[in-house]
Amino acid sequence: MSVVDRQILAGLNEQQVEAVSTFKGPVLVVAGAGSGKTRVLTRRIAYLLEQGVQPSEILAITFTNKAAREMVERVQELVGWEASQSLWISTFHAACSRILRVHPELGRLRPGFTIYDADDARRLIERTIRSLELDTKRFPPRAVMARISSAKADLMTPQEMAVETRGAYGRLVATIFEAYEAALIESNAVDFDNLVNSVVFGLREHSGVREYYQRRFRYLLVDEYQDTNRAQNELIGLLAEPENNIFVVGDSDQSIYGFRGADLGNIIGFSQRLPSTRTISLEQNYRSTNAILDLANALITHNARRHDKTLWSQLGQGEQPLYFAAQDDRAEAEFVVHQLLSFLAEGHSLRDVAVIYRTNAQSRVIEEELSKAGIPYRVVGGVRFYDRREIRDILAYLRILVNPDDDVALARIINTPHRGIGSGTQEQLQSAARTRNVTMLHALELYGAQDLGLSARAAKALAHFVELIGGLRTLVHEGASAPMVLDQVIAQTEYLAMVNEEDPLTAEGRLENLAELRTVAAEADSLEAFLEQTALFSAIDAELDQSSLTLMTVHMAKGLEFPVVFVVGLEDGIFPHIRSLTAPDQVEEERRLLYVAVTRAKQRLVLSSAARRRNFQGKFSYSPESRFITELPEDVLIRVKSSGFIPPAPRSTPQRPTSDPVPYRVGDRVFHARYGEGEVRAIRERSVDREVVVYFDDAGERVFFSSAAKLKLV
Ligand code: ATP
Ligand code: MG
Repeated sequence: MSVVDRQILAGLNEQQVEAVSTFKGPVLVVAGAGSGKTRVLTRRIAYLLEQGVQPSEILAITFTNKAAREMVERVQELVGWEASQSLWISTFHAACSRILRVHPELGRLRPGFTIYDADDARRLIERTIRSLELDTKRFPPRAVMARISSAKADLMTPQEMAVETRGAYGRLVATIFEAYEAALIESNAVDFDNLVNSVVFGLREHSGVREYYQRRFRYLLVDEYQDTNRAQNELIGLLAEPENNIFVVGDSDQSIYGFRGADLGNIIGFSQRLPSTRTISLEQNYRSTNAILDLANALITHNARRHDKTLWSQLGQGEQPLYFAAQDDRAEAEFVVHQLLSFLAEGHSLRDVAVIYRTNAQSRVIEEELSKAGIPYRVVGGVRFYDRREIRDILAYLRILVNPDDDVALARIINTPHRGIGSGTQEQLQSAARTRNVTMLHALELYGAQDLGLSARAAKALAHFVELIGGLRTLVHEGASAPMVLDQVIAQTEYLAMVNEEDPLTAEGRLENLAELRTVAAEADSLEAFLEQTALFSAIDAELDQSSLTLMTVHMAKGLEFPVVFVVGLEDGIFPHIRSLTAPDQVEEERRLLYVAVTRAKQRLVLSSAARRRNFQGKFSYSPESRFITELPEDVLIRVKSSGFIPPAPRSTPQRPTSDPVPYRVGDRVFHARYGEGEVRAIRERSVDREVVVYFDDAGERVFFSSAAKLKLV
């Protein structure tokens, strides 16, 4: 073994070494959370390079762009910058879009095609449903999209769907599916599902291109293999032939994308499909203490459909996980903040901490309590940067400049800012384009507004618009850089004036967002590269490593680890989710979700629930404690009694008993570093702490937790 080999294999256990250094043929690593699967995958890339494999022969697939970037960094540390440059480490989507850029014909696309994200796709489906003169109430676009998407995950075509579904409704969905696919091609666009599917179908059809990529990617590696769907698995299978140097790592207990068509059969059937597979299992967990693993193990054994495996670690027993059953969602959030403060006092920093929940809507109460306590936090996957209106508008302009067939983008901006092209005119234009079988912009350019039967006023407005787009396109063709084009779009459309007029209050934030977008654009090599990057950006990609606490859903937390983890909302109907309760296999998926959540924790794990929650109408809804808590043995967690946290002082007393006095009273003048001077208006007892209400001279009313409030008497 060479010195370098030894370095690459250093700090790995025996099974991990085997996984890293099995050079040829299919390898399946099945192992529990935190057992080093991702670590092994990264080291294996370094090992392959060390064995003389060319970087360009390696294709490694991760689940998020963030994971991909981290892996590139880790590989760079191991093998240096040069060698890492021609490696393909990316998500399925990014890898496929790269292939399609070079071979757009695989997906019957033309150069410059657009990638439609979920929102674009939904709009196009809605338009398709309308153009078929079907009722969007009977065929809700979102639901239709889900059906189409899950068909695509199984590589099903519209024709196959039509044959397979019984009943008129299903056949109509198949009709929509077919028309939607045609509309995508017409718009020279792919949705996320088609990125993968068109490469699969295209490679099956074009043997020349297939052989090229098979020869090019001689070594394939896939992380989080349990969450691949049939289409993704097929892609990997196709590319790996004939050598089948294919290395996959996964954990069937962490399969949480069933709702998107992920197929556990891919893991289970792997060695049947490739009989020479070497299967390696890793048992030692390097992430969590045994107290946390005991809870995780006790939880997951309740799933009937699984291979029995138990995680253990050498990190000692550690602190018992805590569980608090709160009266209501507010008290739960207060508990989280209170507990958090004590972890901070123990020396943890905010970036060590994640609060994880089942659905996005649950973050709001927690956010409110965190703000009161003055604790900085960031929500991963909330209203994402690229989902914001101003960002989407400007990107739509840029898209139309690169791909004039992109009707979804055109519809978005044709009257934004307002330029007198109302929805009536838009519909007329749309149907005129349809009857002439061209896209909307082409219709305008080819026939002129008047020939299309539009009124003189509309024609004038449209002519202006065509001129505007034409001018900007010239700029693009002349090779202007991405930030330059972006600036021109904003200037020539007078977009900022619109932002200011619409809502002066939010204008500043929206301008900041546009400035941020410009920063991203400035880093891109070209306008096309910039658009591609923005289309593939996923929620998790926002930087995690700031000095603030992270709030996110379980799905976003996959693969990550944090010293301190809170899992909130453990009620039947929330976690497990209400929709899962009728189907045992879906409850099992929910249990796997919780398993993923708790195994993110390295040192401290805190679970909580609320007996009642305020719903969006302001009424309380009541839920029993989660079955996942009830089914756990008593000894894997400590039930925190609420009385331990509620201060004994009677609620009417405005002042606290002497043990922990509030240093100010109602009427005192106080100073806060951020808000300046103000007056204490109220001090209220809450279940875990006191609330201090201060009216600042400049900043108005703010509410703090007294133990966290950095207020000084003046
Ligand atoms: P998940 O299933 O959650 O994705 P995983 O199996 O991919 O987990 P990793 O993230 O690779 O696990 O590893 C978990 C942690 O354990 C990481 O911090 C990693 O650096 C560490 N680790 C893995 N193997 C070893 C080892 N042999 N020695 C020391 N630390 C290790
Ligand atoms: Mg991992």
